[in-house]
Amino acid sequence: MDNKVIIFSAPSGAGKSTVVNHLLGLHPELEFSISATSRAPRGQEQHGVEYYFFTSDEFRQMIAEDKFVEYEEVYAGSFYGTLRSEVERIWAKGHTIIFDIDVQGGVNLKRIFGEQALSIFIQAPSVEILRERLIGRGTDTMEAIEKRVAKAASEMEFAAGKFDYTLINDDLQTALAEAEEVVGGFLKK
Ligand code: 5GP
Repeated sequence: MDNKVIIFSAPSGAGKSTVVNHLLGLHPELEFSISATSRAPRGQEQHGVEYYFFTSDEFRQMIAEDKFVEYEEVYAGSFYGTLRSEVERIWAKGHTIIFDIDVQGGVNLKRIFGEQALSIFIQAPSVEILRERLIGRGTDTMEAIEKRVAKAASEMEFAAGKFDYTLINDDLQTALAEAEEVVGGFLKK
């Protein structure tokens, strides 16, 4: 099968980036889809690396021009979306796209790409552990962390049954091995 996509969704703090980075290291044919966002860069984040950063006005303009496969206001005032040009850029190289996207976006992308897509939901073991991990990461204010934790709880409820595969990340090594197996099988199709 040509032109495949793998969709990863998870509440923030569930360990999604670790799993995604592990897979990217294993499979050179996988390429991360860089989303566009209107939120400000955090820490060392750079335009064209973690995200394509735009102002809200620029983002709205691109929505009006139908530049997105999907987009969402993930947090109040912060837009995130997948540019059509990004999908074309990666497929043109014959690569399989990896999406790291919120739960609603993941469900939308699965609907759009159908059989071309493998959708994986990464579940954090509990809301308490999630909160501890976000505090440990040290990149967000307490207020932002509480917002993310509240969103995570509702996302876990919403995600149930809507993904091809659910990966429970209580033990990282087990989660990585499971991810390898599921993704390896899909890439061979
Ligand atoms: P963060 O601000 O922590 O980088 O990301 C916040 C949330 O936005 C995460 O859940 C992330 O998966 C989601 N996100 C990132 N890119 C996209 C995208 O292109 N579309 C949608 N719908 N969500 C995205």
